[in-house]
Amino acid sequence: MVHVSNESSHGVTIIADDTDVFVLVLYHFQKHGIKVPVTIKSPVQGRTVINITVEAHSDFVSDLPVVPAISGCNTVPCYQGIGKSKAIKTFNSKKYLLNSVRDITADMDDVVKESTKFIASCYSVEDTSTMSNTRMKAWSKKAGKSMVSAPKLDTLPQTTELFQENVKRAHFQACVWKHAVDPDPPVLDSLDYGWYRDETQKSLMQVLLPKPESYMDRQSLELLPTTTLVKDILTYLQNIMEQRATTRRRCQVLKSMLYAENLQVHEQRMFYEKEKVIITEERCCRVCKKRIGNSAFARYPNGVIVHYYCCRDPKECPVDK
Ligand SMILES: [Zn+2]
Repeated sequence: MVHVSNESSHGVTIIADDTDVFVLVLYHFQKHGIKVPVTIKSPVQGRTVINITVEAHSDFVSDLPVVPAISGCNTVPCYQGIGKSKAIKTFNSKKYLLNSVRDITADMDDVVKESTKFIASCYSVEDTSTMSNTRMKAWSKKAGKSMVSAPKLDTLPQTTELFQENVKRAHFQACVWKHAVDPDPPVLDSLDYGWYRDETQKSLMQVLLPKPESYMDRQSLELLPTTTLVKDILTYLQNIMEQRATTRRRCQVLKSMLYAENLQVHEQRMFYEKEKVIITEERCCRVCKKRIGNSAFARYPNGVIVHYYCCRDPKECPVDK
């Protein structure tokens, strides 16, 4: 598009039905100072034809590609209830700085922090420390409005962990767009930005966290209504059974080991108990030389017998000193 507009002065018509294309055209137009008239036409007959004039929106066009990258585009899943217009409106009203999102050298923590602030604001939540906090606040806000039913989970912001993966993809997309026309764009590996290679399907897949069911425990099973279908909670049940089997195997090994240890202790006890001491009338204490008689006594491992009260240090035989 940029090359064509450089060569033609009659103008360019782009046939596309995608907001991302519109945003990108605006952005690169301003960046490259293109003056020829450009029209975006929908492939569907009778739809709106847009004449692009950068001047009308020149103050925020340079920031524009970041917004669809974060709020959802072809490569980044969008947020339920947060459309593109809502995202752009929020972006304009609060003047968010999303500089690190399209800066490939930016620290990922800063990217996540900036994006959290922005998306939280799209959900009209002020707490912006983490996305999970935002999620909780949004939930209590919605739950407060309707006392009859709980808010649907998919209308809430994501958890921090899931959001971070989305931000990585948004960061990647924003950087790719920013450098799209550069002769020497930075080399990015999508595997570092929220994607993984699926060998069986021969494609890149989005990094998603394990399904929440796998975190559920026994208590949650008891809370489920009796009408719940087994097929709906199959993954959860499989996970629970796997966990149980692992715990059971571990306990069996532990049981055998404890049994063996018990036998060893028993054997040792028999070894030490087999020696007996006979206190006769003549047997005297080796410390005070008086008869032991009926008094309590102590025996050292070397066989020395003393009165219990003459035994000062059970670890050191008084005779050997
Ligand atoms: Zn004594």
